[in-house]
Amino acid sequence: MSLPDLFREIDPPQRLLMGPGPVNAHPRVLRAMAADLLGQFDPEMTDYMNEVMALYRPIFGTENRWTFLVDGTARAGIEAALVSMVSPGQNVLVLCFGRFGLLLTEILDRIGAIVEIIEVPWGEIVPLDQIAQAIERFGPKLVATVHGDTSTTMAQPLEGLGDLCRAAGVLSYVDATATIGGMEIAADRWGVDVVTGGLQKCLGGPSGSAPITISDMAAERIFSRRHVELGLQTAKPIENRGRRIGSNYFDLAMIMDYWSEKRLNHHTEATTMLYGARECARVTLGEGLEARFDRHAAAGRAMTAGLRAMGLIVYGDDRYRMTNITGVYIPKGVDGEAVRRRMREDFEIEIGTAFGQLAGKIWRIGAMGYNAMKHKVLITLGALEAALRAEGFQAPPGAGVDAALAAWGE
Ligand SMILES: *Cc1c(COP(=O)(O)O)cnc(C)c1O
Repeated sequence: MSLPDLFREIDPPQRLLMGPGPVNAHPRVLRAMAADLLGQFDPEMTDYMNEVMALYRPIFGTENRWTFLVDGTARAGIEAALVSMVSPGQNVLVLCFGRFGLLLTEILDRIGAIVEIIEVPWGEIVPLDQIAQAIERFGPKLVATVHGDTSTTMAQPLEGLGDLCRAAGVLSYVDATATIGGMEIAADRWGVDVVTGGLQKCLGGPSGSAPITISDMAAERIFSRRHVELGLQTAKPIENRGRRIGSNYFDLAMIMDYWSEKRLNHHTEATTMLYGARECARVTLGEGLEARFDRHAAAGRAMTAGLRAMGLIVYGDDRYRMTNITGVYIPKGVDGEAVRRRMREDFEIEIGTAFGQLAGKIWRIGAMGYNAMKHKVLITLGALEAALRAEGFQAPPGAGVDAALAAWGE
């Protein structure tokens, strides 16, 4: 690489990101992120923090006081939740119906939890009665699950999960990264204790901030393990260091002390990401949650209809498919990567590959946040048809786009 290359300004191609995330950010979010910086205890900054807490409550479908941001990508929210709630040796039940269920398991293994997994074949979801039986048999302290798992495009139904857990005195955790802002999140109605998300899917922002909501009951458990005796937050001399577990950066008790009126120093809040997260929420609530869910559902319906009209087979059980991402089988004899390359090079469109057992078998085509729009779905389908034809698969000309157009308004 020559020196002039290193000094050139960033000028990325105008790519349309129609994969499983990240997606193109809403321009308002990018503009908000260009705003000037503030000190972390500046009253303007702490006002913004309080506004973020208020803005994310309706997005999570909750009145939880503890609704804020964990700095880091969605995985930071997941890890903070688990490492702050679970102690070594505690029983945790994980619902595993895709790759992100494996991620929960991996994090819990590192914590030293005793993990029981309910695993179902990819493309399916976990039935409620199976969860009830496992709770009774295993006696977990926590039940952890993903809502929409982008690896399989399935959304786990969560209605009733919280009641089940609360009746057994069990806390519950949900990773809603892939669905927040696109499908309904109803933390209070579901009765789930902790839900985390990210910006780079249906909230239409960049990755780097993880919204989280925590019930009072979960907050109580988290605070009961706090390590303030260390005096770190108040910079008091170290007297009794005690035994500590978990993470410092991801200690939700300390992060909550920072987001509370106490404003006890923990990390330096990521100002620019907070501006972005705040604008994501404003855009989302400005559109209206119902309208936004409808828009994602229309995009998913149009994408599915278009793919089927092209003669392709859509992956997974229709009853449980996420609205914002569609898995589709790569037709026999077609090189999936060659199609993706043509989409990117000729049309500036990115669609997703797949992981694990689905690698090389399906593509994952997203329509999320700012990209869950009619014209973007139509352009993607038209480009896919041309790329498929170039790779030897003859889809009926124009059928995909026509079917998608018809399905959008249904
Ligand atoms: C995309 C996604 C994540 C990603 O986390 P990052 O740390 O932001 O990469 C986590 N969970 C689910 C369910 C996802 O779909």
